[in-house]
Amino acid sequence: MRRFREGSGRICLDYIRTLRHRDSPAEVEELADPVALAAWVTQFGPWDRVTATSDVRAVESARTLREAIFRVVDLARTTKGPVHPSDRDRIVINKAAGREVPIPSLDKRGEVQWTAPDPIAAVLATVARDALELVTSPTAARIRRCEGESCHAYFVDLSRPGSRRWCSMDTCGNRAKKRNLRAREMSAY
Ligand SMILES: [Zn+2]
Repeated sequence: MRRFREGSGRICLDYIRTLRHRDSPAEVEELADPVALAAWVTQFGPWDRVTATSDVRAVESARTLREAIFRVVDLARTTKGPVHPSDRDRIVINKAAGREVPIPSLDKRGEVQWTAPDPIAAVLATVARDALELVTSPTAARIRRCEGESCHAYFVDLSRPGSRRWCSMDTCGNRAKKRNLRAREMSAY
C-alpha cells in the first residue's frame, strides 16, 4: 500500500490531506520530518527516489504552504465567486507556485527524464499551481469535505449529480452504510 492517501482528484487536495483527520481528535501530522516530506514528494512526483533535505526549515515551510492551501481551498468550497485569502496565504502560495516545476526531456532511449534544481520545491510548485488553478476554476464548486466520521478529507466530486459525500466508498462510505444499517436494525426492536 502507498504510504500517503491519494485519489482526491487533485494533487493539492491530496497534499492537504497530509494532516490526516484534520480538526478531529484523531488528527495526525504526516509531514513530521524531512524523510516524510521526501517520501511524499517521491510518491507524488516523477522521480523514483528523492533525497530528504537536511534543512528542517524546508519541512516547516512545506507545512506552512499546506495550511495556506487548505485555507484557500476551504474558502473556495464555502464561498461563491472569487476567493480572497489573507495576504499572507496568498504570498505563501504565490511564492511556492513561482518556483521551477519538474522539466521533462526525451532521452536517447525514447524515455522521458525529469529534472529540477530542487525536486522537493519543484513538486510543491506543482501542488501550489494546482491549488491556484482549482480555486479559480468552475471545479471549485465541486470541492467537498468527506462526511466520514473524523475523516474530513477534501476531494473533487466529479459525479454527474454532484452529490458525492465520501472520499471513498471503500472506506468512509462503507462505514457510514454499515452504521445506518445497524441503526435500522436496532430501531426494529
Ligand atoms: Zn473519508
